[in-house]
Formats: sequence, structure tokens, C-alpha cells
Amino acid sequence: MPRAWWHWPISVILWSVIDSLVVIAIEFLILGGGSNKFTEHFWISMTTSTPLVTIALVLIARGERLRRDAMRLARTDSLTGLLNRGAFMARLEKQTNGVLFMLDLDHFKDVNDGFGHPVGDEVLRGMADRMRHLVRATDIVGRLGGEEFAIFVADIDTDSAEQLGARLSEGVRHEEAYSGTAINVTSSVGLLQANGGLDTKRMLSEADKALYVAKASGRARAVWGGDDSSVELWLPPQVSA
Ligand code: GH3
Ligand code: MG
Ligand code: MG
Repeated sequence: MPRAWWHWPISVILWSVIDSLVVIAIEFLILGGGSNKFTEHFWISMTTSTPLVTIALVLIARGERLRRDAMRLARTDSLTGLLNRGAFMARLEKQTNGVLFMLDLDHFKDVNDGFGHPVGDEVLRGMADRMRHLVRATDIVGRLGGEEFAIFVADIDTDSAEQLGARLSEGVRHEEAYSGTAINVTSSVGLLQANGGLDTKRMLSEADKALYVAKASGRARAVWGGDDSSVELWLPPQVSA
């Protein structure tokens, strides 16, 4: 695979050496002796193989780039550029300790109904940017579908997780381009502490339950999930009524 510039001359030389040895071996078998010396075969082979090897390497490099682009697209949500559901789940499976945040924008349908679907899309992109901005580059951020997002932050303490939950529940502010109207969309958040060995489906379902509690108790808030019996409600001070 051509990963560096020097792969090109090395490939040409290697190909020429192999080609010369094969020609000499064939001559030896058929004629009982080689008509030319190795160096002569080598230089002939070099001149003929250089364009062919170059074309082959360019095609391989292009194929490799296309393969990588296709793999990246298969992992990416096309609207927001975040990981899509499948890719998020795959990354989540490899995690051990951390906090899972599950988010759903509040009354998002009203944005579509009031301003149109394209503006709704802008709000979703704005929320994705805000999420990316609030976490580290190494944290896992995905769009699970529609106006639902998830974040996994590894090795985060409870206070920091709650602060992040509060910032996420503030949602996003988007200014509509034509009228200049400010659209504020809050978010309901379910948090779940993961301490190793938790099944990803179970994690999502527990975080989803907490998210449901956040919705049912007024939206624009973050709620801890966990064992059914110990769901702890927590309201971020800046949005509590
Ligand atoms: P709730 O606070 O209960 O979550 O209310 P909601 O209005 O956010 O929830 P609901 O499930 O009623 O509506 C979600 C809306 O999200 C409806 C759907 O059209 C919209 N939606 C889903 N995906 C997209 C998208 O890619 N772009 C846009 N613009 N809207 C989307
Ligand atoms: Mg939803
Ligand atoms: Mg919603």
C-alpha cells in the first residue's frame, strides 16, 4: 500500500528485480543459459515497469482513499457530522467507566411547525456544534436519530457530569436568518453512571428512562438514572422553575 513517497521507487526497483530474475530463470530453462546479464534485464525492466507501477500505485492510493471516505460516511450522521447511531453504539461497547448522557430536544416539533423543516435542521446542527464544543475531542458524541443525541464521557466525576448535564439541558440558541428571531430550544437529559461491564442496550434503556423522567417532570433538566428504585432527580439551578 503506497503510504509514503518512497514506496514508489522501492516498488519499481522490487518489481524490476523480480521481473529480471523471472526472465533469467525462463531463459535458463528454455535456452539452457541466459542471453543477457542481470543488469541489462534490470534496466530494461525498470524503463518498462516504471509507468505501469506508477499507474498501479496511483490506482491503489485512490482506492484506499475512497474506501476510507466510504467508511467515514458509514459512521457519520450526514446532517450534523456526529457519529450515527450504529457508530455510537459500537464505540460505546468498548467503554468501561464514565457517564452516558442521553438528550432529547424539547418541543422540537414546534420549531419545525413554526419556522419550517430547514430551520429545524439548522437548530439540530447548532445543537451538535454546541455538544462538540462542551466536551473533549476524545469523548463520544452521536446523533441517535431525529432530535435525540447521546454523549459518553469517560472517567468523569459526579460534579463535572452534573455541570455538563446542566449545560446540555440549556440546549441551543439559534437566530433565524430572515427575521432575526431567536429560537431557544432546551433539552431534557438522562444521565447514567457506567462502572464497567454494563451491557450497552441496558445502558441506553436506563438513560432513556431517566430522560423520560426529565421530560415528565417539566423538561429542560437533567436527571440521573440507574437502578429503578434510586432514580435521583436533579434540576440545574439556571433552568429550574
Ligand atoms: P418532546 O419535548 O416531547 O420531545 O417534544 P418534541 O416536539 O421534541 O417531540 P416529537 O417526538 O413530538 O417531535 C420530534 C420532531 O422532530 C418531529 C420530527 O419531524 C422532528 N425531526 C426528526 N428528525 C428531524 C430532522 O432531521 N430534521 C428536522 N428539521 N426535524 C426532525
Ligand atoms: Mg424525540
Ligand atoms: Mg423532543
